[in-house]
Amino acid sequence: MRRDVFTEEHELFREQFRRFAHKEIEPKIAGWNAAGMPDRETWRRMGAEGFLGCNQPEAYGGAGGDFLYDAIIMEEMAWMRAHAMMFSLHADICVPYLRDFGSEEQKRRWMPGCITGDVLMAVAMTEPGTGSDLANIQTRAIRDGDEYVIDGSKTFISHGQIGDLFVVVAKTDPDAKPPHRGISLLLVEAGTPGFTKGRKLDKLGLPGQDTSELFFESCRIPVSNLLGEEGQGFRMLMQELQQERLSIAVGSMASCRRALADTLDYVKQRKAFGQPLAAFQNTQFKLAELATEAEIGTAFVDRLLAAHVRGDDVVTEVSMAKWWTTDLQKRLAAECLQLHGGYGFMREYPISQDYADAAVQSIYAGTNEIMKRIIATRLGLG
Ligand SMILES: Cc1cc2nc3c(=O)[nH]c(=O)nc-3n(C[C@H](O)[C@H](O)[C@H](O)COP(=O)(O)OP(=O)(O)OC[C@H]3O[C@@H](n4cnc5c(N)ncnc54)[C@H](O)[C@@H]3O)c2cc1C
Repeated sequence: MRRDVFTEEHELFREQFRRFAHKEIEPKIAGWNAAGMPDRETWRRMGAEGFLGCNQPEAYGGAGGDFLYDAIIMEEMAWMRAHAMMFSLHADICVPYLRDFGSEEQKRRWMPGCITGDVLMAVAMTEPGTGSDLANIQTRAIRDGDEYVIDGSKTFISHGQIGDLFVVVAKTDPDAKPPHRGISLLLVEAGTPGFTKGRKLDKLGLPGQDTSELFFESCRIPVSNLLGEEGQGFRMLMQELQQERLSIAVGSMASCRRALADTLDYVKQRKAFGQPLAAFQNTQFKLAELATEAEIGTAFVDRLLAAHVRGDDVVTEVSMAKWWTTDLQKRLAAECLQLHGGYGFMREYPISQDYADAAVQSIYAGTNEIMKRIIATRLGLG
C-alpha cells in the first residue's frame, strides 16, 4: 500500500540516500560486524553528504528539514541491516539533547562537528546496578568550585568505544527527595582525565555495535559542561524519549518488512515434497498473517510519525508502538527463521542474524514492560 506520510520530496531524498548507501554502506556491513564497530570515515562521508544534519538547524550546518528525513535514513539502514552504524542513536537520540538543552556556547562548540561526523555522541544512563529504575543511579557529579567531579560506572553504552561526546546521567544532589530531582545531564568528552572506556561487550546480536562499559574516577569537567539546569536531568530525558522510542519503532517495522520480503523469496525457491514451500497452506497462512501485522504496524508508525512532526504529545501511543512493533519483530523473525528450516539457523542466511538482533529491541530504550507501565499510568491505572 502506498504510504502517504512521505512527500514526493522525501521520496526523492530516499532515492538519493539509497544511492549513497548502496555504494558507501552496504559493502562495509560484513566488515563492521566482524570488527565489532563501524569505521569513522563512513560517518564523515555521511556528514559530508549532509545526511547527519537533515533534521538539525541551519545555524549549525544542518538542513533544517523535518524528522521524516531522518526516519527515511533509519528505514533504509534497517532494511540493509546496517545496524553497526547507529545513525538514530547519534542524530535523533543524542544530538537532540545538545540542540534542545545546550547553551549557545555548547551548541557552537559541538553541533557543527555532530553534523559533519567529526563528533559522535552517546548517552550514558544505565549502570551495572540499575537500568529501568533510572532514579536509582549511583554515579555522582559533585560540584567543586568551577568543576564537577564525576565518580561511578556505566554499562551497556552504545557508541562506548567510537563516541567522542557523552551525555552522562549523574546525581548532582544524591540526597534529593524524590531522588529523580537530584539527576543532571553532563557533557563529557572522550579523553577527559578520569574517564575510561572499558570493555566492548560480547553480545547475542548486533555484532557491529560497540556496546561498552564506561568508568569515571575523580573525572573533572568544567561546570560549563552541565546540560540545561542542575536537577532537571530526569525531566529532559523524559522529554526526548518520545523521539527515541519512535525511532525504535520505525527501525523495527523496516526490519520486519525486510525479513518478510526475504522469506517470501525463499519459500518460492525452496522445494519440499516436490513443490515449493510457498505451496503449503501453513506457509501461506503464516506469511499472510505476518504480512497483515506488518501493514498494521507500518500504518500505526506512519500515523505517529505525522503526529510527532506536527509536535503532538504522543507519548502514550509511542509507548504502545515501541512494545507492539518490537514484539512483532521478534515473533516475525522467529516465524521467518522457522520457514527457512535448517538454513534459517545458518549464519550465511541473514534471517539468523535478524532473529538474534531482534531480541534486544524489547529491552533497550525502556523495556516493553516499562512501556506498558507508562501506558497503564496514562490510562489512570496508578
Ligand atoms: C545492546 C544494548 C544497547 C544499549 N545501549 C544503551 C545506551 O546507549 N545507553 C544507556 O544508557 N543504556 C543502554 N542500554 C541499556 C538498556 O537501556 C537497559 O538494559 C534497559 O533499560 C533495561 O535495564 P536493565 O538491563 O538494568 O534491566 P532491569 O531494569 O534490571 O530489568 C530486568 C527485567 O525486569 C523488568 N522490570 C524492571 N522494572 C520493572 C517494573 N517496574 N515492572 C515490571 N517489570 C520490570 C524489565 O522489564 C526486565 O524485563 C543498552 C542495552 C543493550 C542490551
